[in-house]
Amino acid sequence: MTEIYGPGAPLPPIPDDLTVVQFMLDSHHVARPVVQPPNAWLIEDSTGRKVGLPKIRSRVHGLANAISSLWSIGEDDVVCIFSPNHVDYPIAIWAMHRLGATLTTANPTFTQPELEYQLTITKAKAIIAHPINVQIAIDAARVVGIPDSHIAVFNVAPDFASSRSHKTVEEIVKQGLSSSLNYHERRLQAGEGKRKLAFLSLSSGTTGRPKAVCIPHYSPIANVLQMAHTANLQKGRWEDRPYRAGDIAMAHIYGLVVVMHFAIFYGMSVVVIPKFNFVDMLKSIERHRINYIPIVPPIVVLLCKHPAVNQHDLSSLRAMKSGAAPLSAEVIHQLSERLPNMSIGQSYGMTETCTTVTFPQLEQKIGTPGSAGRLLPGIIARVIDSDGKLLGYNQPGQLVVKGPANTLGYLNNEQATKETFVDGWIYTGDEVVINEDRELFVVDRIKELIKVKGFQVAPAELEGHLLDHPDVGDVCVVGLQDDYSGELPLAFVMPSANAVGRMRKNSAEEARIKAALIKHVADAKAHYKQLSGGVEFIDVIPKNPSGKLLRRFLRDRAKEMQASG
Ligand code: AMP
Repeated sequence: MTEIYGPGAPLPPIPDDLTVVQFMLDSHHVARPVVQPPNAWLIEDSTGRKVGLPKIRSRVHGLANAISSLWSIGEDDVVCIFSPNHVDYPIAIWAMHRLGATLTTANPTFTQPELEYQLTITKAKAIIAHPINVQIAIDAARVVGIPDSHIAVFNVAPDFASSRSHKTVEEIVKQGLSSSLNYHERRLQAGEGKRKLAFLSLSSGTTGRPKAVCIPHYSPIANVLQMAHTANLQKGRWEDRPYRAGDIAMAHIYGLVVVMHFAIFYGMSVVVIPKFNFVDMLKSIERHRINYIPIVPPIVVLLCKHPAVNQHDLSSLRAMKSGAAPLSAEVIHQLSERLPNMSIGQSYGMTETCTTVTFPQLEQKIGTPGSAGRLLPGIIARVIDSDGKLLGYNQPGQLVVKGPANTLGYLNNEQATKETFVDGWIYTGDEVVINEDRELFVVDRIKELIKVKGFQVAPAELEGHLLDHPDVGDVCVVGLQDDYSGELPLAFVMPSANAVGRMRKNSAEEARIKAALIKHVADAKAHYKQLSGGVEFIDVIPKNPSGKLLRRFLRDRAKEMQASG
């Protein structure tokens, strides 16, 4: 058995001397699939406000021009965006790229300690926040030493009482547009795109706490071209019509690369919706006649079951691509019965591969049952057993991939980098099967990661936090299967000696301690990291002789508990 190559004609040349902003806004020499890009690149869902290329270019320039002097942002400085989706989100990213800066996008639902952690490991110098979470940004910035003057906020409707002590992006853009040129645009030498960092995105990888993945400019550019190349071969499923974005957070690599960069590059108008609400999503599809939506599995479940689906005209929908977590063949089947005029498929990817490794075969209505898509051109895949031996087609094993979009490693974490990034290959920690047609099927997850609604939850992060609680002697967090969220974090806890004593004396104490532990996590962590799978007491956390947690044992135990109700 050899390596498996993504199908298709060779990829077009991938520019290694362009920054992401130059690729998106200036690079007319890069073959574009759509001759006439739509007038509206971005559409604000609530107001219908449309922003096209000339306006985007000028806002990007205005923001870069003012920020370079206001915050002295320049080469390799890190700027954090901490906001739900917003029309100015890509504009802020591209403006910082003009200055040679790197972006780190934070989940907008993060609590203050979670944001502090991201700001600290990425050494961010400034934050662009949203009025709804700017207070968290202010408090976190104070703790990590970012000056208050280095915080800006996106604009929302004029009647929204935003933080008046901070400049708005609108004010900064105006200031930049009325000042003389202050900055030299960062340009790259040939080949430099493969090293110069564009993004630092968080991922916990195969083990441990979240780490910052070093993503050079070349990676998202390559992935966009891989997807565009494949989509070209699926003509007929893609039209120059509005595209839906709001349900996928631009802060996550999926929203960042697939929605924000690929969709726009591919000539679609992105309807920007700040916060996911299912019924609002249905209204947006109807209002904008959206024909293509990228989604995550919980939305598919709602589309199958929610009564509101029948009350909306969804006839414009032509294709749907689900990613970021597994989706069963049964659910796809149910959805295709409910929305029969639509193609449905899955794609597989990860932050470390700068997103997409497989792409759905949207020329088929539902594709092969259970398939997570077909390898993209330019991807080389290996499937290996636990001894590292190369396996054959249809044999389950760990997926190891190489592709032009592969990222460089984890920032300041040599050990974790060495474990996952080996000679240009990325060890995904996912157990898969690949068939002769280069279709990928995700069988299981070997790595520690838990995924809740497509978002990463690192067990080590929750375990570290729970160990701080005096009633916890030892702990292991695993994912409990859930039809809607995919998985829910469940903590197996060995109570401390003191907690055991109290429980012996008082039978009500067990429930009280469990509730206290759930609250302990709820108070400190974003909503999707909470212990919605519950807390189970256990006499001892199983470990191997060298002290390594036997997670699999507890995952199986969780499955058994679930099966027995
Ligand atoms: P992230 O870096 O947050 O995108 O998470 C990447 C992980 O999500 C992968 O390593 C998989 O475990 C999981 N994942 C992504 N796409 C899929 C899919 N289509 N099916 C199953 N798991 C997926």
